[in-house]
Amino acid sequence: MSNTHYVLTERPLPQLLSLVIPIYNEEEVLGLLLARLDKLLQAIPCPVEVILVNDGSRDRSVVLLMEAAKREARYKVISLARNFGHQIAATAGLDYAAGDAIVLMDADLQDPPELVLSMVEKYRLGYDVVYARRIGRQGETKFKKLTAWMFYRIMRKLIHKDLPVDVGDFRLMSRACLDVLLQMRELHRFLRGMVTWVGFAQTDVTFVRPERAAGETKYPLRKMLLFAWNAAVSFSPLPLRLSLGFGFTIFGASALYLVYAAYAVLRGAELVPGWASSITFTGLIGGAILIGIGLLGEYVGRIFEEIKGRPLYTINLWSNLTPKPPRTRELS
Ligand code: UDP
Ligand code: MG
Repeated sequence: MSNTHYVLTERPLPQLLSLVIPIYNEEEVLGLLLARLDKLLQAIPCPVEVILVNDGSRDRSVVLLMEAAKREARYKVISLARNFGHQIAATAGLDYAAGDAIVLMDADLQDPPELVLSMVEKYRLGYDVVYARRIGRQGETKFKKLTAWMFYRIMRKLIHKDLPVDVGDFRLMSRACLDVLLQMRELHRFLRGMVTWVGFAQTDVTFVRPERAAGETKYPLRKMLLFAWNAAVSFSPLPLRLSLGFGFTIFGASALYLVYAAYAVLRGAELVPGWASSITFTGLIGGAILIGIGLLGEYVGRIFEEIKGRPLYTINLWSNLTPKPPRTRELS
């Protein structure tokens, strides 16, 4: 990203800033969250709405949310009819956000709400995406730190070379960026990768990630792995290509062995009868099958890309021609 040159134009404070917060079984933390948000609402120099998305919580979260909404009109609650998972709940909130700058954040105060103030400053400088980069983590095990470290580096290889490292979903987006993001309706969503894909002028603010204020993580290791796997296969055709690579390797090695065996026989070597032919044929057939699967994978991969129906390109606001709204391709 460092090699991209941005043409930034300063802009006024957003006329409305939307905070979007997905919530799943957070009754223990909601009191703390709302208290922090109350303070933040006083400090933010522009109109704000807070979209609280109840992601099918099984505890009293929704009751607490409705109470908050009654007391403070800027708190708005959408309640999903069941648990859809963080990425979808976040998308629902983003769908309903009306602001011209939108911040997505977690409910557990691991994303300090006060950071929104510095994000808005960057937005005013003209940036369209301001993500929060962790420069440290408090109260998390070595194991969690190590897996998170590996996660981001592998994801960069698989998903996008620009995928920022040590960045979660906590970020501010401009309306222009969000509008494109919301056109991407794929079911398997990896929002931070999708925002990278959208492009625009992106920058960061840094923070030390605090511990969860209360309650427990909704992302135990099993779900983390699933999340990583989902992100990798929904973004990258690389896993599909693996079998092509294996296929060519095995096929090639078998063919080489065939040549070697023929050469050895011609030189008069005494080979076990049937050995070379069995080995090479098994290898050749195995290789051919893997190549076939790999080729199928290439086509399935393309179908997969097409079916997402993403816009073909996105355009910066500072282009000389007035950008047209990007079209999604019609799927017939
Ligand atoms: N969350 C959600 N739906 C889920 C799981 C989590 O909306 O199915 C919310 C959760 O309430 C929190 C955010 O997503 O606001 C991040 O979850 P968590 O803090 O448990 O994840 P971690 O920070 O441990 O990765
Ligand atoms: Mg958390």
